[in-house]
Amino acid sequence: MGLFSKIKDMFKNSSVSNEEELESEVIEQVEEEKNEIILEKTVENKQEKPKKQESKEAQDDTDFLSNEAEKANKHNVNQDVKIYEKGLTKTRKSFVSNLIGLTSRYQKITDEYFDELEEILIMADIGVNTVMNFMDRLRDRVRKEKLESPEELKEIIVDELFIIYVNDSILTNKIQYAESGPTILLFVGVNGVGKTTTIGKLAWKLKQEGKKVLLVGGDTFRAGAVKQLEEWSVKVGVGFVGKEEGSDPASVVFDGLKKAKEESYDVVLIDTAGRLQNRVNLMNELEKINRIIGREIPEAPHETLLIIDATTGQNGISQAKKFKEITNITGIVLTKLDGTAKGGIVLAIKEEVMLPVKYIGLGEAKEDLQSFDIEKYIYGLFKDMM
Ligand code: GDP
Ligand code: MG
Repeated sequence: MGLFSKIKDMFKNSSVSNEEELESEVIEQVEEEKNEIILEKTVENKQEKPKKQESKEAQDDTDFLSNEAEKANKHNVNQDVKIYEKGLTKTRKSFVSNLIGLTSRYQKITDEYFDELEEILIMADIGVNTVMNFMDRLRDRVRKEKLESPEELKEIIVDELFIIYVNDSILTNKIQYAESGPTILLFVGVNGVGKTTTIGKLAWKLKQEGKKVLLVGGDTFRAGAVKQLEEWSVKVGVGFVGKEEGSDPASVVFDGLKKAKEESYDVVLIDTAGRLQNRVNLMNELEKINRIIGREIPEAPHETLLIIDATTGQNGISQAKKFKEITNITGIVLTKLDGTAKGGIVLAIKEEVMLPVKYIGLGEAKEDLQSFDIEKYIYGLFKDMM
């Protein structure tokens, strides 16, 4: 059985068939989740009652509890899969329907077939080098396995795309947390890519996990940037530190770290201004921020995440290359994947920038930031193909 079949088996029960249904299901899931939390609370209260119950009943209770935990876990996975499916709709509709069209137009695998396939992959922003490597591997397999019909190639195409991503196991999508004390995550990237929004969404996610989160408004350059971050802190109910526009970002960061240490915050998310057009200034500013962070909390920042807007395609890739020269980037957040038909950029980043994609943005709502999971991604993209 091919890789994709395995992935499909994993997720098929979480899948839905049309978009409206998908949307209402996501809303429903959120509602249900709320109810589940209430249910959990009720169960907790019930447990605190005097221990008159006999062991049989107590046993029933633990069974009930572990079933509930299992159910809740499965539930989260289902909801995540749906957010992936929904966020990748545009890419799926163009890229994957082109692939399906290609397969039905050719009876045999020919040079023309390969040329068209190559074009489809490049159109999806997978990146020229990645596509070239991919085509070489594919031609190899066709020769070795003596494949003749495009139909046989469908699953192999998906498998090979998957392999592009996973073949370098050094890259991990996990966030590096501090062993003790606050974990400091620094967010960089040019204006408008979604830094502040990502921080807001991530704050919500981390809060859901039970962490005490502080947002630090280090983008003091742009009017409204600090306020926008503050609004997110109110919306998701986490801490906030900021100063007026034009303040020294490093001094805001200093205040933030002080508060984080004094009030035992678990995670600090630092927003920054992204003026790549003034490279020297940006480099100096980030250096200064990093110096302050390292002085206050050795080993920090634990991650420096570069935000890239997926709708900017190859431009985003070149931003990544530039930022890599300016500062030590540890991972990528790829935003607005829902807004582009070129979701192949996830694969290009991995190949061309050699940085792991840690999170992806699949919409503007607080639950639309997802940890990047190649299996869910592949499923969200190709579920209609087989
Ligand atoms: P910043 O300048 O880098 O801080 O960018 P902002 O966080 O202010 O975001 C710029 C715009 O992109 C805002 O309108 C956001 O709502 C939007 N945005 C951010 N992430 C996503 C995403 O994943 N999907 C969509 N559709 N919009 C996003
Ligand atoms: Mg911002």
